[in-house]
Amino acid sequence: MNDRLCDVIVVGGGNAALCAALSAREQGARVVLLERAPQDQRGGNSAYTGGGFRMVHDGVETVRSVVPDLTDGEIVNTDFGSYTVEQYLDDLGRVTQWSCDPDLAEAVVRKSTQTVQWLHGRGVRFVPRFGRYAFKHEGKFKFFGGTVVEAAGGGRGLVQAEYAAAEKHGIDIRYDARATALIRDRGGVSGVRVETEGVEEDLHAGAIVLAAGGFEANREWRTRYLGPGWDMAKVRGTRYNTGDGIRMALDAGAQPHGQWSGCHSVSWERYAPDFGELDRPITASRNGYPFSIMVNAHGKRFVDEGADFRNYTYAKYGRIVLEQPGSYAWHVFDTQVQHLLHDEYRSKGATKVQADSIEELAARMEDVDAAQFIRTVREYNAAIRHDVPFNPNVKDGRCTQGLAVDKSNWALALDQPPFSAYAVTCGITFTFGGLKIDTATHVLDIADRPIAGLYAAGELVGGLFYFNYPGSSGLMAGSVFGRIAGREAAAHAMQAKRA
Ligand SMILES: Cc1cc2nc3c(=O)[nH]c(=O)nc-3n(C[C@H](O)[C@H](O)[C@H](O)COP(=O)(O)OP(=O)(O)OC[C@H]3O[C@@H](n4cnc5c(N)ncnc54)[C@H](O)[C@@H]3O)c2cc1C
Repeated sequence: MNDRLCDVIVVGGGNAALCAALSAREQGARVVLLERAPQDQRGGNSAYTGGGFRMVHDGVETVRSVVPDLTDGEIVNTDFGSYTVEQYLDDLGRVTQWSCDPDLAEAVVRKSTQTVQWLHGRGVRFVPRFGRYAFKHEGKFKFFGGTVVEAAGGGRGLVQAEYAAAEKHGIDIRYDARATALIRDRGGVSGVRVETEGVEEDLHAGAIVLAAGGFEANREWRTRYLGPGWDMAKVRGTRYNTGDGIRMALDAGAQPHGQWSGCHSVSWERYAPDFGELDRPITASRNGYPFSIMVNAHGKRFVDEGADFRNYTYAKYGRIVLEQPGSYAWHVFDTQVQHLLHDEYRSKGATKVQADSIEELAARMEDVDAAQFIRTVREYNAAIRHDVPFNPNVKDGRCTQGLAVDKSNWALALDQPPFSAYAVTCGITFTFGGLKIDTATHVLDIADRPIAGLYAAGELVGGLFYFNYPGSSGLMAGSVFGRIAGREAAAHAMQAKRA
């Protein structure tokens, strides 16, 4: 490519990158987007998602602003609740142990609704998240846990709509194009070295947006930064997020930021492939554990399965499974809660055993101390507060009392056959550590000064998530900062052109 045939180069091909590219283009910038993956695997982790967006909303009116075809029946039969700025900020603070950067958090929260509306205006269709985040209880859906909408068609639908918009608006999309280094001159960052089919070339632009994801697909970095054992975690999404964007920026003087030893990780099918499968992205998810007991190789419970809605615990429980002997566990259910389990529990490839008695089930659960497991179930059943009614849509307080590890909500006795158990291990979703940015998405150097011409958005930004994560904030944060990054990068490039 000739010198400066574009104004802004966006590195990455997922949601954050596409938001940045669309937003830069809206400002009149000529944009090149570099996606390392081939076209049929484009879209990064974003393509593997359920497409959920956590936004501030005040119920049906906000939902209708992005789901205009909401039917009267849906409105009558649904309690969307509301989700305020304060609740969102509180959730981000609480689950990250008050470590999250308050300025970044505030930017995500306050711009969340308008950004979902902006995406809607760019052709992304949204639908209410019935089923996963609202169980039908006593004839009515009631939403819990803060997310009410998802992109139609999930992550694939989201990314498809974003690529269609990018093509329509004349963004130059290059597949199989791996950025390997940033080019710097006196004025700051002025280009990117790109490798395509083994050939390197230099592309120059007025500004660069990095949106190349975290390092979760890099086995070596996982072990180096997350710690021993993490080499063995399954990757839930794309194989292309190996930390390139982070490394390139650090080489250019950027400041590492956030929790480099932390990540989002979940219960995941024990024998799932090493990477996610784009045509069946969430079939290996095992998120029904709040209605289960989870036991390890010793046949013992090791975590409060009902500590909170799954949306607020799932992202930290993968690590706890990884830490168990052999890095596996079993989710155990009886027939009363089968209807609350998502389709993935019934998917091909699930490691499942079933039996009409706990003793028989124990014998079928591979690699588990059967005698101890039977004792665990007996003790658990005996410790339940039966006077509190069960309700999956609220934190019902139906708990156990007096166990070494109590269950705080949704404790139902395991006494109604058939019983089923599912083997899980740890699936890593994305890493928390990354680059330091300000709220205008400038990448900052170690003295907290912006590196001229360099912007970042998405999973490669550090400082927002620590220890845990409120479900559906990743796409939201990537969209908010991607949109800002595109606008800021375009302004910088235009100014540089005029100078
Ligand atoms: C199974 C699953 C389900 C999820 N569900 C949800 C959900 O419902 N809601 C939610 O908010 N979050 C969800 N997440 C998290 C979500 O995926 C991320 O927060 C979000 O997609 C991050 O977007 P991103 O654009 O930063 O990264 P990605 O979408 O991962 O994009 C990174 C891009 O960079 C490209 N790339 C990497 N290196 C280079 C390079 N050197 N040169 C050029 N390109 C490069 C990759 O190919 C990829 O296209 C889920 C994740 C998974 C895995």
